[in-house]
Amino acid sequence: MSVVTAFAGMTRVDPVVFKANCPDCRARFELAASALRLAVGATPRTTFYSFTCPECGEAVRKPAGERIVELLTGGGVRTLRLHSTL
Ligand SMILES: [Zn+2]
Repeated sequence: MSVVTAFAGMTRVDPVVFKANCPDCRARFELAASALRLAVGATPRTTFYSFTCPECGEAVRKPAGERIVELLTGGGVRTLRLHSTL
């Protein structure tokens, strides 16, 4: 809820859903922005998004390219910026 409030003034407030699939049980589903987390690292290799599969409960983590990062952040997905110590 606080996420929606934070973005209400600057972006569209349409409900945004992202299509995803689970590599574990192969289910396909749609996720709301609040069900996703994005972690942006120093390199594409450490940039990924994650969610919990609604079908099997598996924690899924996938690499996120530039385009996906834009898509997710634009859709109001919570973003965590990682700071590499390397
Ligand atoms: Zn699954």
